[in-house]
Amino acid sequence: MRLATITNWAYGTTVALTIISGTTMLLASNAQEHERAAEAQRYRLDQATHNLGLDMFALTGQARQYVITGDTTHLAAYNRTAKALKPVEDRLRHVNDAGAGADELNALKEAVRWADSLHDEQRAALAARQQGDDERARQIMFGAEYERQLDRVQAMIERFQYRLDQRTGAEVKQAATIASLWKTVSEVLLAITGLLFLCVLYFVFKRRVLHPVVRLSDVVTRLAAEDYTVEAPDEGQIDEIGDMAQAIGLFRENAIERQRLEAERDADRAMRDLLSRMTQRMQGCDSLLDLTEVVQRFVPEIIPGLAGRLYLLDDSRNAMMETCQWLSPSHSRSEFSPLACWALRRGLPHRPAGKAVDVPCDHLVTGDDDKIIDSICLPLTVHQETLGLIYLEPAGAAGEAIEVSEVYLNMLSENIGLAVSNMRLRDALREMAMADSLTGLANRRKMEADLALQIAEAERQNLPISCLMIDVDHFKHFNDRFGHDAGDAVLRELGRTLSNSARQQDMAFRYGGEEFLLLIPGMGADRALLRAEEIRERIADLDIRYGGETLGPVTVSIGVASLPVHCDGDHLVKTADDALLRAKSRGRNRVESAGGRKSAA
Ligand code: GH3
Ligand code: MG
Ligand code: MG
Repeated sequence: MRLATITNWAYGTTVALTIISGTTMLLASNAQEHERAAEAQRYRLDQATHNLGLDMFALTGQARQYVITGDTTHLAAYNRTAKALKPVEDRLRHVNDAGAGADELNALKEAVRWADSLHDEQRAALAARQQGDDERARQIMFGAEYERQLDRVQAMIERFQYRLDQRTGAEVKQAATIASLWKTVSEVLLAITGLLFLCVLYFVFKRRVLHPVVRLSDVVTRLAAEDYTVEAPDEGQIDEIGDMAQAIGLFRENAIERQRLEAERDADRAMRDLLSRMTQRMQGCDSLLDLTEVVQRFVPEIIPGLAGRLYLLDDSRNAMMETCQWLSPSHSRSEFSPLACWALRRGLPHRPAGKAVDVPCDHLVTGDDDKIIDSICLPLTVHQETLGLIYLEPAGAAGEAIEVSEVYLNMLSENIGLAVSNMRLRDALREMAMADSLTGLANRRKMEADLALQIAEAERQNLPISCLMIDVDHFKHFNDRFGHDAGDAVLRELGRTLSNSARQQDMAFRYGGEEFLLLIPGMGADRALLRAEEIRERIADLDIRYGGETLGPVTVSIGVASLPVHCDGDHLVKTADDALLRAKSRGRNRVESAGGRKSAA
């Protein structure tokens, strides 16, 4: 039952009890009135009876006094009284008016008649006295007969009084009992009303003041300890406590909102830290492999619950090629044409089954139920150049909807795109720095970097390695005779020839000017000598043309040195160069081995 209903009932009962107890008090007062009225009536009856008795015995008294004294004033008084004596009914009217019953009146009337019946004796006695017969007058008035009649009258009056007493006494007693009963009832009701009122007051105080205040105090204590799981009590109380509960509720909501904002801010900061760390690591990457490792490590942390792939554009095949993946995505092919992806076509993130309806990309692989996967394609575009794509889908079989902030996705794709772009730029610069622009061969700087590695590798594997130092014979004459550009054309052709004659593991370098170097890992001195001879012949057979005219035969001298037979690793190039000098000094267009063996054209 609601508190309001209980208190309303209690109030109602209290009011009803108050009215009832008021009524009983009135009834008690009324009963007391009755009691008092009964007492008054008894008094009036007593008075009336007493007066009647005096009346009845007044004539006897006056007659006796005259008989004894002979004083005529007593006789005159007797005559006056006798004359004034009214009929019986009139004399009994007082008693009747005072409330005597019919039986009582009859009894009294009988007594009065008896009293009146004495008048004859009195008159006889008075007459005897007047006539001087005192003796007879005394005998009449004080004789035994007169006394007996007088006693009878007296006894009748006493009986009447006794009956009257009995009746009025019973009435008074009944009225007193009723008055006392009503008084007790009204007192009990008043006590119950008071008790109920106190109970209601206590109940209301406890329920509406004490309990809410204790609860509010508990809530405030817990809120102060930042325990926002506690609910502010809201029982719709419309008073100061209700206002306080509302204020505490508002305070709690504000605190929760503040906490939520703080958590959001912390999460955002953590996410940005993660993205920033990932960007820093990517900047430190030296190769695509490093970059993919960073992506694989960081992306699942940044967007947990999403599997994905990183695709990079392979220009030569004009295809998006999978470079790495995380959390085993299964709904996108590992290679596809850029045109198969709407994100790449539009240069914007694409989500076919997100909040808005959209078309799925052709590179997506749908399941048996043909349901469109809630995937996201993020294009990696830098300076309007498409570099690749990040593909994301829900991890695992559940395929739950993706809940991730677009801001973070954009930052992620932007950062990875920039990192890929930087890496490509760095690779291009490095390639440019390591390549000879005229011949397309690796330059001397690259040679110096690779040489030490190759020698160390050969020594580690205990394999031979050979070095061919190649120098164009009388190249200065070419320049002088056909011009510098023609000389360049010769160098370009020689570069191409060397490149073509190099096996996969061989390395051809432009050493400087018109000098080339061929490094042949795994090849010993004998085979290297044959190889050098082969190259020399191949070059000698070239028919190099420039500007429509044949530039004439081009010959080269080659010095060959091999590890480990000719020298140690530190002197391989120098030893080959020495052999080349020997080839020059011995007539050019020939091959000289560091070991002294030679091959002449
Ligand atoms: P040798 O048979 O003794 O090697 O005689 P050589 O003329 O080839 O040798 P030398 O060292 O005297 O001359 C090399 C010339 O190569 C000098 C230089 O002008 C020319 N040269 C060097 N680099 C280039 C280049 O990139 N292009 C052209 N066209 N000429 C170059
Ligand atoms: Mg030279
Ligand atoms: Mg030369």
